[in-house]
Amino acid sequence: MRVVIAGGGLVGLSLAALLRLRGAEPVVLERMPPGDYIRRGFMLGHQGFHALDELGVLADIRARGRAIAPTPDGSSAAIAVEVGSLLHRLADGVPVRYRHTVTGLLRDPSGRVTGVAVDGPDGAAEIAADLVVACDGTRSRVREMAGLAAERAPLAEGKIEWMSPVPTDEVFAMAYLSNGSHIGFFSWPEGSFGWRMHDRCGREAAVAPGIAAFIAAWERLLPPSSAGVRGLTSTDELRYSEDELLTCPEWWTPGVVLVGDAAHFFGPETGASAGIGIADAHALAQAVATTADPDAACAAYTAWRAPVVRPYEAMDPGRRRLLGAPIPEPRPEERWPPPAG
Ligand SMILES: Cc1cc2nc3c(=O)[nH]c(=O)nc-3n(C[C@H](O)[C@H](O)[C@H](O)COP(=O)(O)OP(=O)(O)OC[C@H]3O[C@@H](n4cnc5c(N)ncnc54)[C@H](O)[C@@H]3O)c2cc1C
Repeated sequence: MRVVIAGGGLVGLSLAALLRLRGAEPVVLERMPPGDYIRRGFMLGHQGFHALDELGVLADIRARGRAIAPTPDGSSAAIAVEVGSLLHRLADGVPVRYRHTVTGLLRDPSGRVTGVAVDGPDGAAEIAADLVVACDGTRSRVREMAGLAAERAPLAEGKIEWMSPVPTDEVFAMAYLSNGSHIGFFSWPEGSFGWRMHDRCGREAAVAPGIAAFIAAWERLLPPSSAGVRGLTSTDELRYSEDELLTCPEWWTPGVVLVGDAAHFFGPETGASAGIGIADAHALAQAVATTADPDAACAAYTAWRAPVVRPYEAMDPGRRRLLGAPIPEPRPEERWPPPAG
């Protein structure tokens, strides 16, 4: 089967490597240059472990990171690691056409997708495919061009994140605040990363109290984060966002299938988006290896993944908070930004 993978992020690279292990030679198209990524702390959930183990990557990632909630069999609920370690390891030995952007889908007269139009350093080109896999993230253009719907649910809260060059003794801690939102952090050997939910107030208001007030609030609400958050020196190191959950009622249409963030995005307290995306890639690689019929492969992929992914979507704590149960007011010391006066 001729497979074109749109997007060479964590999920696209995992899929390419898993397909190659099964004897296929997919074409991977990535719009960014090689090695380009945003350095950040990362919590790799156990959902992705089997695929990475099969690729021979897991032991190395364990060695480079720190285990979150270790289990007696030597595994763990998750691994905290700098995301670049994982990306570089996955890209090793996988041919990728970097600086190539998928700009269109080719169709036969029946409307079936038969390939992609792509823009690269040498100009525009067309690549024929039996199956185009959308691994191009939450804003997936391929999904949109294929006419697959995406339902977005903006979370009720804003989120503020920090990344510090200082690791902490504890590898992970998370606490729920009295209004059901949460605060958490994790630490890998070279640093630490924290996030908290709070009122949607825009970046300017979120950073207005200043870095000293921010650090003090974190130390009060989540004491194990102290060494890490104290490594911050400026509000420029704080990232404010207003996240949204994403779900797609259908994951495929003839000739195109959605995988990873292009198919679903979960709230921050699940810590599961990447692990589940890598497991999607594992299932699709296996489905493609077992049949020459792309539609049969997509149907098998959907049958295997729906019982795993749909419950995560339905039970996402962020989504539960949107369902309208009365939410108590946060205690004054939990408010961010703090009330004036
Ligand atoms: C700040 C932050 C922190 C996160 N922390 C965690 C965490 O701790 N744990 C966790 O499990 N998840 C986390 N996530 C989510 C996690 O990063 C994603 O689930 C994971 O990267 C899987 O993504 P993906 O490969 O499906 O998509 P992406 O990582 O978005 O990759 C998509 C790729 O497609 C490329 N692309 C897009 N459009 C085109 C096009 N038209 N043509 C060619 N290429 C294209 C992009 O350049 C990109 O490389 C975090 C996300 C963010 C933003």
